[in-house]
Amino acid sequence: CGIVGYIGQNDTKEVLLNGLEKLEYRGYDSAGIALLNDNGMNLFKVKGRIAALRKNVDDMIHATMGIGHTRWATHGVPSEENAHPHQSASGRFTLVHNGVIENYQDLKKEYLSDVTFVSETDTEVIVHLIEKLYDKYEDTAEAFRQAMSLLKGSYAIALIDSEDEDHLYVAKNKSPLLIGLGDGFNVVASDAMATLKVTDQYLEIHDQEIVVVNRSFVEVQKLDGTAVDRKSYTAQIDA
Ligand code: GLU
Repeated sequence: CGIVGYIGQNDTKEVLLNGLEKLEYRGYDSAGIALLNDNGMNLFKVKGRIAALRKNVDDMIHATMGIGHTRWATHGVPSEENAHPHQSASGRFTLVHNGVIENYQDLKKEYLSDVTFVSETDTEVIVHLIEKLYDKYEDTAEAFRQAMSLLKGSYAIALIDSEDEDHLYVAKNKSPLLIGLGDGFNVVASDAMATLKVTDQYLEIHDQEIVVVNRSFVEVQKLDGTAVDRKSYTAQIDA
């Protein structure tokens, strides 16, 4: 299982698909990508191989930000419905997740009893929760931080707000995730292997931190919103 994300100047499809291929060694049963452009969110999901996903992705779509996922099913069978990315009820928020949310049933009961779920995953709880909290705080970063502080379990998450083509939101706890820094672009990946083609500069994310990623900067924060100062390092592996 794995995650790749990109926000930059160039078309993102190839960075995402190539990144997911590099993460194939981690094992997976389904895959998907979400591409945001001026026409809105474009979702592609398949059960099976990245090669199948590649065939499925519309070549004509141009987008400079997106997220991708390979799934190792823990909650719900491998299927197109259960494949990530998952979306909130209004379609505004789209996310990918690796890991297991241990308290997803409690969260569902407490906050989401009025929501219709379309998948059997624990992941879908997260994206609905973010939308609920957005309705309350009217701020995506705040909704994201609040949602992350309610989760128990392991997660590497990348989130897109369709109303905002300038930010990716990522978070991690006990699942691998790091940021790759580029010139005019930034990437997110479970493993540097996935993005060595585009950069060798990386930034660690520690457990229970969130990162707001723009085309030209990244901002690491604790779950209470405090800024964290983190130095980047050069990856020493060959692509
Ligand atoms: N628990 C999530 C699911 O079953 C994520 C699995 C993964 O890490 O790929 O969909």
